[in-house]
Amino acid sequence: MVHAPIATADVPLIEAQGLRRVYRMGPRDLVALDSATFQVSKGESVAIVGPSGSGKSTLMALLGCLDSPTAGSLKLSGQDVSRLSDRERARIRNQLIGFVFQSFHLIPRTTAIDNVAVPLLYGRIARAHDLAREALEAVGLADRLHHLPTELSGGECQRVAIARAIANDPSLLLADEPTGNLDSRTGEEILTMLEGLVDRGLTLVVVTHDANVAARWPHRERAAPGPGEGGFSAMTATTTTPAAPPPPVTVAADQRQRIGTLAFFWQTTRMALLGLAAHKMRTFLTMLGVIIGVAAVLAMMAIAEGASRSVESRIRGLGTNLIFVSPGSRRRRHAVRVAAEDVVSLEDGERILATCPSVERLAPDLTRQAQVKYLNRNRGAQITGTTPEYLTCRNFRVVEGRFFDAEDVRLRRLVCVLGHAVSLELFEGGTPVGSKIKIRGRTFEVLGLLEEKGSGSWVSFD
Ligand code: ADP
Ligand code: MG
Repeated sequence: MVHAPIATADVPLIEAQGLRRVYRMGPRDLVALDSATFQVSKGESVAIVGPSGSGKSTLMALLGCLDSPTAGSLKLSGQDVSRLSDRERARIRNQLIGFVFQSFHLIPRTTAIDNVAVPLLYGRIARAHDLAREALEAVGLADRLHHLPTELSGGECQRVAIARAIANDPSLLLADEPTGNLDSRTGEEILTMLEGLVDRGLTLVVVTHDANVAARWPHRERAAPGPGEGGFSAMTATTTTPAAPPPPVTVAADQRQRIGTLAFFWQTTRMALLGLAAHKMRTFLTMLGVIIGVAAVLAMMAIAEGASRSVESRIRGLGTNLIFVSPGSRRRRHAVRVAAEDVVSLEDGERILATCPSVERLAPDLTRQAQVKYLNRNRGAQITGTTPEYLTCRNFRVVEGRFFDAEDVRLRRLVCVLGHAVSLELFEGGTPVGSKIKIRGRTFEVLGLLEEKGSGSWVSFD
């Protein structure tokens, strides 16, 4: 756990020793900053001047704990921050440092007050919106709280950025070309405002390429360290030291009032909803994507479920607890078909029924292909000879007329029941019940019509 450094009078606020930052760019290293050595006391204001590309922004990123140096050491209020983890640097940044950038870096489509409050919310500081309002009042924007960045002038945007930088009551204010995007008069106002903050005890580091800006700080050239490839040697620093010792920056970071988890949750939810409302098209497209995705998954699941139901019902239609018993391996002997063993006899069936308690009912099934004829129409069909039990065993249902019964069997009557497809073809949709048809030349009376089973399997039961 790292505590944010608390400024004390005797330790310099910034102590840089041989700071170096090298960017890896393919085979060649790019030295953006080299051997920067300097100190800034608490309450001092420093302007660092250098041409574009001399590493000023790189230096600011290091001072602001946004980045770590490649070599050298950096102490803020006596604490070495050059080797800290991202998390620890973020904590120090949040508690000690405020930033002002050339291009403002405000969150678009977010009001001035929310722009200032967001960093406070992330820092879990209590009364974030009250503090934001106070900071905006301090920079003279009391009547612009609910304006969007697009509804503000450049100078006002930069003032919002300054309010954001000071709302957290930092000890150190870093300004990277704060007037770079502003006309000279507005720039002048911003600089005056920054100086006013120094008078209130803040330590200020300004970097600029503009000699006129730097001229506001009475020149006191600092010894430039030895030449590097890029780097600090190309810059000069000018400072003002306040005449009177500055009032101490009293607010210690870890004494600031923090909000509880519930309030934090509510605040972030509110910000999230505002964010969604501010980007309606993006929100709509994201929702559309999620909706299409979820609908596709649901549709796929429904189709799979439907397919599995259909297969299940087809299997159930055939009978799920059905066992077929057919003649065994002695069917052929010396390649000669033995007719007597080609069937399981009715007596075999009765024996199975008597000895196997789990067999509920049993129906013989002798099936052949034959031509069926009615008047001048005929058709090949599958003919099954069986008993009344067959109806229940195979889950058939009679939709017209009746199935043959025990009496028909006993009297060996020539009767039959038609499947759906056969009936449709021979009787062309009319009722077959009571008609006489011919099977292999013998006349059978049609007793009934079976329910349609549907095709789909390799055998049609219609
Ligand atoms: P200044 O702010 O003084 O104009 P910078 O600090 O932005 O200069 O950049 C110094 C040098 O480092 C420049 O040559 C720039 O191209 C290079 N540089 C800056 N940032 C990066 C980066 N992230 N990666 C690679 N090179 C960088
Ligand atoms: Mg820069």
